[in-house]
Amino acid sequence: MVSAWIGLGSNMANPAARISGAIDRLGQEPQLTLERVSSLYRTAPLEYLEQADFINAVARVSTILGAEQLLERLVRIETELGRTRNGDRYGPRVIDLDLLLFSDEMHCTPALTVPHPRLHQRLFVLAPLAEIEGDMRLPDGSNLAIRVTACTGQRVERMSAAATTAAIDGVTNGSSY
Ligand code: ADP
Ligand code: MG
Repeated sequence: MVSAWIGLGSNMANPAARISGAIDRLGQEPQLTLERVSSLYRTAPLEYLEQADFINAVARVSTILGAEQLLERLVRIETELGRTRNGDRYGPRVIDLDLLLFSDEMHCTPALTVPHPRLHQRLFVLAPLAEIEGDMRLPDGSNLAIRVTACTGQRVERMSAAATTAAIDGVTNGSSY
């Protein structure tokens, strides 16, 4: 059994409900145990700025799967939840599931880079990761809490439990948040 950390993101209709649904779906996946889940975060888009805010979260799982098998599962779940890959890199996405960390392994093949190559500079990943793991040491030896403080100028807001429930329930009254 190893621990792995998964980053979740969405910025299309009802993103909070999509993240919540994806977390539930991860919890049902065979050979994978959901151990801990962060709050939901509302975050400003990076790279391509003319798009809606994202909702992000991070989950820790334990698994007997290998890293590449786990990524295959994540891609399958993305597809199941409606993700299409038609040039949406950095653009709006229904659901994005990234393998952030796989134990303390460093792994680089054409299909999979772990730790996720943009983990270290993205506060929308680092903040929820720090919420569930405190100041863990990353596989490159750096300190998560120091990485968090080094990310300046990125808007990342942790949602309260009440705001999260309201956002998820927004599905039923037609609002997207
Ligand atoms: P993003 O980097 O914005 O998450 P995509 O979700 O479109 O972009 O992923 C593009 C490709 O990145 C996928 O086809 C996948 O094979 C590859 N990839 C490499 N390493 C990882 C990783 N650690 N987690 C998720 N996808 C990865
Ligand atoms: Mg991805």
